[in-house]
Amino acid sequence: MMSLDYKHTVAERLMRYVQVDTQSDPYSSTQPSTEKQKNLGKLLVAELKAIGIADAELDEHGYVYATIPANKDTVVPVLCFCAHMDTSPDCSGADVRPIFHQNYDGSDIVLPDDNTVIISTQNHPYLKEKIGDDLITASGLTLLGADDKAGIAVIMDAAQYLMQHAEVKHGKIRILFTPDEEIGRGVDAVDMKKLGADFGYTLDGGEQGHLEGESFSADGVSITIHGISTHPGYAKRKLVNAAKIAGAFLNALPKEQWSPETTSDKEGFVHPVHIEGGVEKTRIDFIIRDHTTSKLALYEAKLENILKETIAAYPGARYEFVVKEQYRNMREILDRCPEVMEYAEEAYWRAGLQARRISIRGGTDGSRLSFIGLPCPNIFTGEMGIHSKQEYVSVQDMEKASEVCVHLAMIVAE
Ligand SMILES: [Zn+2]
Repeated sequence: MMSLDYKHTVAERLMRYVQVDTQSDPYSSTQPSTEKQKNLGKLLVAELKAIGIADAELDEHGYVYATIPANKDTVVPVLCFCAHMDTSPDCSGADVRPIFHQNYDGSDIVLPDDNTVIISTQNHPYLKEKIGDDLITASGLTLLGADDKAGIAVIMDAAQYLMQHAEVKHGKIRILFTPDEEIGRGVDAVDMKKLGADFGYTLDGGEQGHLEGESFSADGVSITIHGISTHPGYAKRKLVNAAKIAGAFLNALPKEQWSPETTSDKEGFVHPVHIEGGVEKTRIDFIIRDHTTSKLALYEAKLENILKETIAAYPGARYEFVVKEQYRNMREILDRCPEVMEYAEEAYWRAGLQARRISIRGGTDGSRLSFIGLPCPNIFTGEMGIHSKQEYVSVQDMEKASEVCVHLAMIVAE
């Protein structure tokens, strides 16, 4: 363990950033999906400039780019640190009132603005490891937004450290803050040429020590069932009800597997997330997930077979089945450049941690960045209970993550 002479700023930063509402909106077609995300972008650009990062900019698509200049002559790879500015549409992010809990004592945390919202050690066993830490929560009416403003606070804290410590030698480091990660559009308008980095790390993970180099591979499937609509009073042997076919089809899906609620670890799932329609036409949207990309096609073939068999009992009905690729397991890329994970493991080690390689049951900006030229695993920030009013984060976890970033900068330049 190599200790750094650090005066951390993560807690103040997080508490400041979460008060800016940056909720993204999956139903918006604009870029970014909500204009208010730029409010945080502007604040971050001003803060980056204040710590001496002259080229910090917010572009029209809502991305923040900035450079920590190299302070070493030899040519070393360009490293990128990335975090997302938006918060989940699943829970309100307006008027967040962050609460600082000093020296957490291990008891359940009752949130003051709605005392039915309780962050309990039973539902959040990681809390038991955080006794003595300082925690930050919301107040009971909103999410906290540590996902991923903890990541932003960590990167800002590390950037400030590097700008203030010329004796710490590193190459060029690019900072990227993205909008709309929570709605799967975080890298839609990123300019990879402008970013100009060789590999990167997202700061968007949970427990201290976790290192995520593997994500789901993901497709979306949209199924449209077409029935035949007639006046119901004169419908005998004519009407074919698409809504009923949809019901029969969903009922025919496997019940003990294939569902998020019945799977864990390395098991994939086939998950209907939305249904709408009526007699004439009903649409069902699925998300398909597995860590092994080739399994997606098998799930999709089986799903279509079940649909075909169901629909065969309804003469006159027909269907459309459209598969759309969403993202792929970043491991396919990271296996080709193992040093990217190894640098991170070394940085954890120097920060006094043993890295635990974890696979994410989801995706990150890094899943897609990895496939467009920026191999990009995910580092912990301590954000927990995300997308909910029970969200919390340990200040000491964020501080550790910041130290990991500084060590990474040094390791890459060695
Ligand atoms: Zn996130």
